[in-house]
Amino acid sequence: MRIGVIAIQGNVEEHVIAIENALRRAGLQAEVIKIKHKGLVDSCDALILPGGESTTLGRLLEREGIADEIKKAASAGIPIMGTCAGLVLLAKHGDDQVEKTGQPLLGIMDIHVNRNAFGRQRESFETLIGFNGFDTPFNAIFIRAPGITGCTNDVEILSKYKDSIVAARQKNILALAFHPELTDDYRIHHYFLKMIG
Ligand code: GLN
Repeated sequence: MRIGVIAIQGNVEEHVIAIENALRRAGLQAEVIKIKHKGLVDSCDALILPGGESTTLGRLLEREGIADEIKKAASAGIPIMGTCAGLVLLAKHGDDQVEKTGQPLLGIMDIHVNRNAFGRQRESFETLIGFNGFDTPFNAIFIRAPGITGCTNDVEILSKYKDSIVAARQKNILALAFHPELTDDYRIHHYFLKMIG
């Protein structure tokens, strides 16, 4: 098994460490690679899209030719987890700000996203949230976080905070508004591993 972490910008190292820890705890073997250029996505059984700055990330993914590869992987059923800016990129629909700037999105999940849902009020905070299927709350770290404001019926809502959906899944795509890679609670990475099968 091979898991690719898109390594263009953002919290790459943290995701590599988190998924490696989750693999170890689950007693699973996999190679975790960092993807900086095209030609590697095809060889992966799962992909992680870290947070960072969605405008920059989206543009660089297009320029490097990685965006098309991710879209192809998504429609082939490859599990993809996007966190924070990664969630923004997964969305089919952006908010007014996203539309106005024309920032490129991958558009692989039927969600509407508010790019800075929690950003302006409080740049960064952490809070306990419920997560569908978890026995105890998850300590979620939000950093200029987006929120999901709408989705189609086949999107499973995994967590809500205030007025926004902050975790959701549509088939092989998992979106998180917060940063599970910044805590040592690996339950969400473990959930993602189960999606890989
Ligand atoms: N809201 C930011 C953006 O759209 C994402 C912030 C983050 O990934 N920490 O770029």
